[in-house]
Amino acid sequence: MRRLLVAGNWKMHGTRQSVDSLLEGLNQQDWPDNVDLMVAPPALYIQHCLERLAGSPLYVGGQSCAYQAEPGALTGEISAAQLRDVGCEFVLVGHSERRSLFGETDEVVRKKFAAALACGLRPVLCVGETLEQRDAGQTAEVVGTQLKVILDAFGVGGLAQGVVAYEPVWAIGTGLTAEPDQAQDVHAMIRARLAMLDDEQAQLVQIVYGGSVKADNAEALFAMPDIDGGLVGGASLNADEFGAIARAAGRV
Ligand code: PEP
Repeated sequence: MRRLLVAGNWKMHGTRQSVDSLLEGLNQQDWPDNVDLMVAPPALYIQHCLERLAGSPLYVGGQSCAYQAEPGALTGEISAAQLRDVGCEFVLVGHSERRSLFGETDEVVRKKFAAALACGLRPVLCVGETLEQRDAGQTAEVVGTQLKVILDAFGVGGLAQGVVAYEPVWAIGTGLTAEPDQAQDVHAMIRARLAMLDDEQAQLVQIVYGGSVKADNAEALFAMPDIDGGLVGGASLNADEFGAIARAAGRV
């Protein structure tokens, strides 16, 4: 039986003051004990979050990492080893904003995935199609290619050490959510692809959904057989809303 994961991506939001009040709100939540929980703050606040969330069930993760694990001349970057060193458990790789705004190719995403695994972090591999690609019937092909790069390098067993986040680009930050059936179809397609390579490992891979997940749509999404939780952007900036999403995951 797979555990569900509810992860919050704070993106480039927060000040010392707002992060503190968010942490205070998070520390007041009644967290389910049958769900994995994680927040990914902006890197500057990671250490503070780790300190303030110590004793809570929330893991802390990075939103990205450098493509090389070893120290080096990469001004402005933060390595997977450094994230691990301060106490992170997870790191997002290949978020659509990184792919579209920072030119991250599948090859860069593969290197970041490798760096994360090498440092003992659980990489959350984000995959998903744009609206144009969906309308052109290319969802399976686009998601399949994003996955293949990782599968060719690490196999299903390597992928199972991380998490897959299916995030249709058209649903991220737009308020548009994939219908539970629509998301389930893609999650099932992903799992079927993995199962063709290694059925046993495929059943272990957590595949979470991301794209305008909120307290009022979370339970219907998480009730789908191949949706193993959510990657939550905007709604994770509100502690009560994020807590409610986590509790919805705990109920399914
Ligand atoms: C995200 O940033 O990964 C995301 C899913 O954002 P939102 O929940 O705001 O759509």
